[in-house]
This record gives sequence, C-alpha cells and structure tokens, in this order.
Amino acid sequence: MRQIDHHIVGGAGGSARQSDIFDPNNGGVQARVALGDAALLDRAVAAAKEAQPAWAAVNPQRRARVMFDYKRIVEAHLGELAELLASEHGKVVADARGDVQRGLDVIEFCCGIPHVLKGEYTQGAGPGIDVYSMRQPIGIGVGITPFNFPAMIPMWMFGPAIATGNAFILKPSERDPSVPVRLGELMLEAGLPEGILQVVHGDKEMVDAILDHPDIGAVSFVGSSDIAHYVYNRGVANGKRVQAMGGAKNHGIVMPDADLDQVVNDLTGAAFGSAGERCMALPVVVPVGEDTANRLRAKLIPAIEALRIGVSTDAEAHYGPVVSQAHKEKVEGWIQKCADEGAELVVDGRGFTLQGHEKGFFVGPTLFDHVTPDMESYKEEIFGPVLQIVRAADFEAALELPSKHQYGNGVAIFTRNGHAAREFAARVNVGMVGINVPIPVPVAYHTFGGWKRSAFGDTNQHGMEGVKFWTKVKTVTARWPDGGGDGSNAFVIPTMG
Ligand code: NAD
Repeated sequence: MRQIDHHIVGGAGGSARQSDIFDPNNGGVQARVALGDAALLDRAVAAAKEAQPAWAAVNPQRRARVMFDYKRIVEAHLGELAELLASEHGKVVADARGDVQRGLDVIEFCCGIPHVLKGEYTQGAGPGIDVYSMRQPIGIGVGITPFNFPAMIPMWMFGPAIATGNAFILKPSERDPSVPVRLGELMLEAGLPEGILQVVHGDKEMVDAILDHPDIGAVSFVGSSDIAHYVYNRGVANGKRVQAMGGAKNHGIVMPDADLDQVVNDLTGAAFGSAGERCMALPVVVPVGEDTANRLRAKLIPAIEALRIGVSTDAEAHYGPVVSQAHKEKVEGWIQKCADEGAELVVDGRGFTLQGHEKGFFVGPTLFDHVTPDMESYKEEIFGPVLQIVRAADFEAALELPSKHQYGNGVAIFTRNGHAAREFAARVNVGMVGINVPIPVPVAYHTFGGWKRSAFGDTNQHGMEGVKFWTKVKTVTARWPDGGGDGSNAFVIPTMG
C-alpha cells in the first residue's frame, strides 16, 4: 500500500494515526496518509523558524527567480501532476490540468513580487521629515486547504506567502494529499531553501494544533463554512491573522434576452463539471419569467441527458466520480430531501453505475424545477452534480435571490442587455460576479473572495490582497535635522501643520 508522508525537514518519522485515500473511480483504498499531531507540527514550526529569517533577507528579485524556476518545473510535470490529482480527487484529467494551471497563474504573479513589494514614500511630510512604508513578512504562515482544488488553492496561498519572505506550512485535505506533497518537493528543485515550504497532514487534531501554536502568525483557510467560521474564531482568539473562505451556492440569472444555447452550454459545464464539487459551480439557475424558464428547461433536459460520466482518465467524459462514498451518499440524501420538499425532480441521477466501475463514487446529473427559497435543499450547499431551477417573476425578484442567500461567493447573469448587467453587478450582494461568464474566478492578479458566509476575515486570496495578507506594513517617519532644532514644543502631539 502506497504511504503518503509529511514533507518536513528531518523526515516524517511516522505517525500513529493514518487515513485511507480512496480511488473514487473504483471505490477501493489506494494509499494511506499519515495524520500528524502537535508534536509533529512543533518540529515543522521549529524548522520554519530557523529557515525564515535568512529567506526574508534574500532580496526580492532572487526570491522571484525561485518562482520563475518553480513555474518552469511544475509546467514540466503538469501531465504527471494532473493524473495524480485526478486519481485521488476523481475529476477528469483535463480539468485537473486546469487545477494546476490556475495555481501556476498565481506563481506567475509572484514572479513580479519585487515590483509589488515596493513601499510608499512621502518626501517632506513635515519640515525635514520623510515618511516611508515597507511590507515585511509575517514570519510563519499556514494554509489549510480543501479537497476540491488540491493544486490551485495551495498555490494561491504559498505563492504569495513565500515570495514575500515567509516560511509556509501547508496542511492539505487528507482526502487527496499526494499532489500537495509533490508541489512541496518540486519547490526544493526550484532552489527554495529547506524549511520554507513544508507539508503536514492531518485532520481536526492537526488543525487545532495549528490554531493554537504561538509561533504561527497567519492562517489561510479554505473549506466548508462551519469549519471556516470555527477556524477564524479560534485563530483570531489566539491573536493570529486569519482569512477563512467557506462554502457557496452560486446562482446564474438568465434574462429573457439571453442566448439560451450559449447559456445551456455554459450552465451544464458550470453545474456538472468536476461533479459539481467547485465552490464556483453554478448549482442554481434563475430564469426570469415563465417563458424563459420553459424554454430553458426544454433545452436543458436533452443537454443533461447527453452528458457523459466516466472515469477520470476518460478523455471523452464530461465529469467523473465524487470524492468519496460518504459524499456520494450525502449528495443523494440532498436529492431525496429536495424531492421531499416538493420540488419537481426532472432528471434523477441517483443509482447511476458505470459498467466495469460499479463501486466507483458516481452520481448522475440531476435537475430539479420549481425549487423555492424556503427549501433547505436551496439554502444549503449540496456540492454535487445537482442543478436547481428557481423561477423568478422579474429582474428584481431574480436579483433578490442571490443577494439574500446566506452564501455570497459567486453569481452570474446571462443577458444581451448591458444596462441590466451593469445594474446587476452594482447591486448584487455577492463577492464575485460573472456577466455572461458562468464561473467568474478572477485572474491571478485580481483577487478571489466571497461575501457573507462564504468568507470570514477581510482579505481576499491572491493578487494584491494576498500580498497584503502575508505581510505587515511598517511605516517609518524620519527626521534629519540640520542642527539647532526647529523650536517646536515637544510636549504637543506633532501635527506637521
Ligand atoms: P472541509 O471543510 O471538510 O475541509 C477543509 C479543511 O478543513 C481540510 O484541510 C480538513 O482537513 C479540515 N477540517 C475538516 N474537518 C475539520 C474540523 N472539524 N476541524 C478543523 N478542521 C477540519 O472542506 P472540503 O470538503 O475539503 O471542501 C469542500 C468545501 O470547501 C465546500 O464547502 C466548498 O464550497 C469549499 N470551498 C470553498 C472555496 C472558496 O474559496 N470559498 C474554494 C474551494 C472549496
């Protein structure tokens, strides 16, 4: 049985507890991952503490060169990483390549770190006085990441953290930990000093040890909302800087003038791609007006029935299995719940089996119509290949749905009307908006972050927000008197007036 160990200075040294890594395509156990504890974390933190000051002292241009080399090395391993990722997650290999690539986009941004780390400067803020600021690393940062993007999300975090001079410890999901370990190993090949990027595995025990560790200055978390909230509260109570991204229930608003063929193409990809296991998936579609709803539904049904579900190595498959048997059961439980709540089950994906892979964790695509906002299955995240149609009478009613929902990660509007789109983008109470773009994940030099229960804390991932999260500002007020003093009263607060 393949063993996945921690990637820390001095070697993993074995862990008493272990967890199974499944092959979602076949349902069997393919590896075991070590689950670390507070003592193991102590070792990683001690190594990080020793390595970090010298790394912070490396000039930013040289730190950026490590990022350039890392980008080249990861690109050279892209195929191998995508296959490994798909084999533990279940997403199809082409989608897994996108997972790695979107992370690499952040590494590419970090190649420009010398430019973005420049501080501000005011000459002559007062008589003989100059003021300048600098961004300094926090020290030791930690990333705690979910199973659904095991390459992209770690890179969102460790790219800017490392490029700005921190040491970083990654605690990836214990469900698909192999790619995060490979990403750590490849950093050494790129010339990053030992101890600057380490990977520890674990579950709640390890997360709690991280949140309570006095030498860890910042924690970035991505996962489900209840745990995000918990991580945020406990980390902040311990004096850490914390950003914690949570779950989602993204809506796609379809205006009567939208190009429905384009919408159906975009929607099927955004709702069912990666088996719906994306925080930026579109699991709710809101057609505006009965006529739009009926026309959309008529086009959606054959498009859904034409979807090909296959193993993650099937190049023709639109999506693969979900991550675990427990998750499959949870998704199927939500399908039952939504039907029990009175929605119309138009396409039922339960009971789907793939010939030759009968024990795989597959869920067929599912479509509900006449879902209403009072239903639990609408309020909560399902995180599976389930699309819910919620009909809205007009634009205002459609705008209200995502705005009032507990989650506020992403939203999209499909329309040919520029005014409606502009109005929607300005007024909707959601963090990331797509206009005729179904999955509006911002590019790496912008920032990623939702609102409401989709994010706790006040700083987004990557882009300048990432740089801000992983650094603290120091502001220097300097006076170089030319002798004799300026006669000001030193007992009065300086005003520069
Ligand atoms: P999860 O919350 O189960 O796990 C996330 C991390 O928390 C993992 O590293 C896990 O080991 C750890 N963890 C699990 N249980 C814990 C506990 N009781 N105490 C402390 N730590 C614990 O999430 P997941 O199932 O891996 O990922 C899917 C979720 O992540 C979905 O809700 C999805 O919407 C969300 N997500 C959000 C974003 C975003 O940017 N907002 C991006 C991707 C995924």
